[in-house]
Amino acid sequence: MAEDSRQEKTLHGIGASPGICIGKAYLVDTEGVDVVGKYFIHRDHLNDEITRFKTAVQQALDDMKKIIEDTPAELREQSDILETHSILLKDKMLYDRTIDTIRREAINAEWALKKVVSSLKRMFLDMANGYLQARAEDISQVSDRILRNLVGAPTVSIGAIDKRVILVAHDLSPAETSQIHLERIMGFITDRGARTSHTSIIARTLEIPAVTGLGNASKIIHNDDLIIVDGSAGIVIIHPSEQTLVKYEEKKMGYQRYRSALSKNAHKPARTRDGRLMTVMANIELPEEVVPAIDHGADGIGLYRTEFQYMGAGMFPDEEQLFDKYRDVVEVMNPRPVTIRTLDINGDKTVGDRDDCGEPNPALGMRAIRYCLKNPEVFQTQLRAILRAALYGNVRIIFPMIACLAELRQARAALRQAAKSLGSEGARALASLKVGIMIEVPAAVIMADYMAREVDFFSIGTNDLVQYTMAIDRDNRDLVHLNQPLAPPILRMVKRTVDEARKHGIGIYMCGEMAADPLHAPVLLGLGLEELSMNPQSIPMVKNMIRSMDEAEARNAVAEIMTKASLDEVTEVIEKRFADLLPAAFNGGVNPSVADEKE
Ligand code: PEP
Ligand code: MG
Repeated sequence: MAEDSRQEKTLHGIGASPGICIGKAYLVDTEGVDVVGKYFIHRDHLNDEITRFKTAVQQALDDMKKIIEDTPAELREQSDILETHSILLKDKMLYDRTIDTIRREAINAEWALKKVVSSLKRMFLDMANGYLQARAEDISQVSDRILRNLVGAPTVSIGAIDKRVILVAHDLSPAETSQIHLERIMGFITDRGARTSHTSIIARTLEIPAVTGLGNASKIIHNDDLIIVDGSAGIVIIHPSEQTLVKYEEKKMGYQRYRSALSKNAHKPARTRDGRLMTVMANIELPEEVVPAIDHGADGIGLYRTEFQYMGAGMFPDEEQLFDKYRDVVEVMNPRPVTIRTLDINGDKTVGDRDDCGEPNPALGMRAIRYCLKNPEVFQTQLRAILRAALYGNVRIIFPMIACLAELRQARAALRQAAKSLGSEGARALASLKVGIMIEVPAAVIMADYMAREVDFFSIGTNDLVQYTMAIDRDNRDLVHLNQPLAPPILRMVKRTVDEARKHGIGIYMCGEMAADPLHAPVLLGLGLEELSMNPQSIPMVKNMIRSMDEAEARNAVAEIMTKASLDEVTEVIEKRFADLLPAAFNGGVNPSVADEKE
């Protein structure tokens, strides 16, 4: 039995932050508070119960304040996330509704809180946008903190861990993750979590390997178990055999050599051997990611997802708050370009404490530009903030989810109206602003010839383009075989978009995840993309891949690829032609073309 349980076992999750670490597991029990029961409170004691709840919230707020103050300098940039959690603690959706529930149903505070949290989480999880879905985790983490105070459970103190370990947790909140001391914590794995969760964002900032979404790792793994975390592949190996250990030690060293060779060259331009320059940009969700973006060699910000600022506070930010954040990003990046995307949320479900949010099909519903055009005040507020920020640097604006010319024209009219309301300042800003659209709805690809006449650039959002072309939910793990950007229908879509953009002399960029995979670089180069935007960590790898290729060779490969009718055939061509460049990117090996590159 004991022998059996120590057999090597591989768990598959989501690669939240790349790299490999090997070490002993340290279980962080963040789940104890799940075991709370329901009991009724006598009407005479309801006020006491409400006071007990308020005290627990206040205590959580004090803890958060202390954590924010004690956050090490290198993580200050993440304290916005902690601030968001502090705001959530007193958010109407959570705070007032729990108090209401205690009073109305005469039940204990723990149970009332659990009830409110589970309905809020359902609401967020029902949203099609992965980013918004991930906010359900914030709610869980905040409520865990209150529950801990209510039931008197000790708060996890990751900061106090004094040995070199790999953290294993059911879930880690951003506050907990930010207590990680790099000299002690090698990496972490969690049962919960998505790629867009805050915890994953922090892991990438810290640049420690992390795998999330493992389901039940914290139940299977015991303290001091030897584990391997491969954050690039999204794999965790428990009780590795001698042979596996040797293999992963080599992989780890190869990966480290590869990263350091890559980062030495991160700031060099991504110019092919035959002289074609590819601009490589960063996607960011938070202003705080700007510095890591520059450190990883970003030529600018190709996609600033602005949704984050609209989350958590229970109401939308005002123009001043938006302007402050945008200006920060624009000033730091200047003269590099910053592409600010207007709000891409699923309808009005995120506002206030409404729970009548059920669109039956949110991915096909009142999302992104559709929402903004329907809510002109929200749109005007953001457009004015963007225009004002544009005076501080090099700004482009991009509209998401454009499906027809009418939407594009209305969006542009709204932009002109915002500029007009700002007077001469607005006119100056508008004159300097490049206006583009995301190409992520097949209808926009079909109409690309007309769309191209009315914008300065296209940026292809493959995450949604694949979703809407293949009729799959982009977050459905059972449909990954259909969620493949190299599939011929997607390549044809991309090619048509690029060809129309070039014919009309406008910029042609890509900011979907497809751009972050070095395996795709030869195809994107050969198709004629001018700019690729991706998570900052991927930049050095993609730049390196481009520097090791010839544009002519990539064009030839694409000519061959476009004659293929299946994904397998496409992949075969890429492997045949570019196999020598792949091992470094995918297996953590040493890529000779990186190691040999001269300073
Ligand atoms: C995309 O759809 O490819 C994209 C970049 O936008 P998002 O992932 O934010 O929907
Ligand atoms: Mg999209």
